Amino acid sequence: MSYQVLARKWRPRRFVELVGQEHVVRALTNALESGRMHHAYLFTGTRGVGKTTIARIFAKSLNCERGESANPCGECAVCTAVDAGRFVDLLEIDAASNTGVDDVREVIENAQYAPTRGRYKVYLVDEVHMLSKNAFNALLKTLEEPPPHVKFLLATTDPQKLPVTVLSRCLKFNLKRLLPAQIVAQMRHILEAEGIAFEADAIAELARAADGSLRDGLSLLDQAIAYGGGAVRAADVRAMLGSIAQGEVGALLQALAAGDGKALLDEAARIAGFSPDFGAVLDQLAGALHRIQLRQLVPGFRAEGEDEDPLADALAARLAPEDVQLFYQMAVTGRRDLNLAPDARTGFEMTLLRMLAFRPAEGGAAAPAVTSGRSAAAPAAAAGGTRAAPAAAMSPPS
Ligand SMILES: [Zn+2]
Repeated sequence: MSYQVLARKWRPRRFVELVGQEHVVRALTNALESGRMHHAYLFTGTRGVGKTTIARIFAKSLNCERGESANPCGECAVCTAVDAGRFVDLLEIDAASNTGVDDVREVIENAQYAPTRGRYKVYLVDEVHMLSKNAFNALLKTLEEPPPHVKFLLATTDPQKLPVTVLSRCLKFNLKRLLPAQIVAQMRHILEAEGIAFEADAIAELARAADGSLRDGLSLLDQAIAYGGGAVRAADVRAMLGSIAQGEVGALLQALAAGDGKALLDEAARIAGFSPDFGAVLDQLAGALHRIQLRQLVPGFRAEGEDEDPLADALAARLAPEDVQLFYQMAVTGRRDLNLAPDARTGFEMTLLRMLAFRPAEGGAAAPAVTSGRSAAAPAAAAGGTRAAPAAAMSPPS
């Protein structure tokens, strides 16, 4: 039996199974149930967040042999054909890969003719702003006088490139990037159903790397399963992604909080031993600083779906909020300039040393007593914004 990739195997078949995009689901469901369908919908947003899936469920809803409903049966000939990706009245056009092809124009012009098998023809035109001029004119003409049996689902990552004539004829929805917690939940659900062992840290890392796209996340998950020989382990995922354990990020920040340059460089050397992607490491550092700052400035606030994070709690008490801001800036710029550095490790170390150098040396060495005193006074300082410039607070050279 051939291995079916998870994104395909687990593609939602009903609106209720769809992860995220509740606003779109609700609008389409209401329209289907009330029978007040718009004839053209425009989805904007990034890739891998569910456009094709929504189009397929929508096509089933309109054409299911057991009647039009937001909850198609999933069993009739129409539903199974749509699920298998071979329903003749669902026409998927990827304008990004078909721009010059003339038959796209023909396909759109054919919208005038009645559907072959269902009650409606559903057009999904992805990256619609990239259609050829001819195809675009055909689309516009059809949108101006839409035949009653045609529904358009247009999608684009770049709505600015669409003329007003198209925009004004569509009901617009922004498809949202998924939250890491939503991706984690879906991965957990799939792995449990597939009987595949996994570590929670491993899927958290994968969800972060998925960057809002469930499809990308599931394809990383496929990779991780293959890499780990059938199990998903955090160490494997890190090796695969070039990222490091949160504990390592914490050790860097502990060394910075203590102003301990030797510990900082020792830790950097240890991290370099994993041959990580230093850009990904700086991303992780920035992410940790974000979580720390949230705790400092908005006590009690917890990002949606966030787990316990004792490391961030501890560092929030040790680092001054304005240092956290500064470190964050340095991590982000350090990442941006990484390819300008002589090599990635140098760029990474220079970013860390910069954090160390700019750390205000209040009262000399940061003894634990000083550190805890600072943290108590720190929120006020951050709110007032009346703090000496870091450069002024640095000790003079030699
Ligand atoms: Zn059906």
